Amino acid sequence: MGNREKILIIDDSSVQADMLRSILEGDYDVTVAHTAESGLHYARVGDFALMLVDVIMPGMDGFGLLRKLQEEVVTSHVPVILITSLAEAEYEERGLVLGAVDYITKPYHPPIVRARVNTHVKLYRYRTQLERQSMVDPMTGIPNRRSYDLNCHNKWQEAIRFRQPISLCMFDIDRFKAYNDTFGHPAGDGVICSVAQTVTEYLRRSTDYFARYGGEEFVSIIIGSDARTACRQMKKICQAVENLHIPHTPEAGQWVTISIGGVTLVPEREDSYDTYLKVADTMLYDAKRFGRNRVVWSTARMEELGEFE
Ligand code: GH3
Ligand code: MG
Ligand code: MG
Repeated sequence: MGNREKILIIDDSSVQADMLRSILEGDYDVTVAHTAESGLHYARVGDFALMLVDVIMPGMDGFGLLRKLQEEVVTSHVPVILITSLAEAEYEERGLVLGAVDYITKPYHPPIVRARVNTHVKLYRYRTQLERQSMVDPMTGIPNRRSYDLNCHNKWQEAIRFRQPISLCMFDIDRFKAYNDTFGHPAGDGVICSVAQTVTEYLRRSTDYFARYGGEEFVSIIIGSDARTACRQMKKICQAVENLHIPHTPEAGQWVTISIGGVTLVPEREDSYDTYLKVADTMLYDAKRFGRNRVVWSTARMEELGEFE
């Protein structure tokens, strides 16, 4: 029963809440809150697929709660159905305008409630699945460029706020055009997947971020490691890819390898993300120039440049 969708009922009346619960608990994992405040608390942490909210409650009412839910990032995407009695039907417009997805009036017919709930839960599930898929590169299964574009500036802001070092790293497979020309595009795709998987295995901390930037290029953002640590980790990754022992063309070298360029800094408000991404890209270009299959790093203000031991 672990994969049943979760529904939150917020109603000050135990009788009403229990009635709804009995209608839905056969199909869903139901939680009940008796005040808007405790409902808000559950909503923030509970990962619900739908909320059923009573309009008239002492303290914060359903409209107030709806407004709060919409304001918060973690709850704003969860659909809300408002519940009230026929006498309050003039509130319906207000609720829908505030963003409720539906409105159920008491007395209600249980099968209709169930059907409406099922519809909204199904829509919610489709939407979240699509959102998740739109962030993943289908070939490698890692975050895609769209995910990267949406996440990189948040990471940057996080590093500024918490005064943490941040490393931006660009990866590129060496002489990959030759690989494709010799072994064919499908085999090349396989190499891109192997590289993505290998790098992922080395970037396991929850703060590590790794995405396919495009083609045979990847990007990584690491928060909390100093330049030396980040650079060492990248060297391990470089080595790990070579150790896969994927045969390359004779002209390109024995095995498939990657080059990595990176930069580490503790960013200040006035620093621009794009400037430092360009620095990482320049380091990557240098890694290629210096012979490939290597890591080239720049420290914060570029006073020191090169490879760490
Ligand atoms: P360098 O060592 O300087 O990076 O040389 P390179 O040949 O890897 O560089 P270049 O940028 O000239 O070539 C990149 C190649 O990557 C060209 C393109 O055909 C191939 N490529 C890009 N995306 C994909 C993909 O999704 N699948 C496959 N199989 N090949 C791809
Ligand atoms: Mg390239
Ligand atoms: Mg390349």
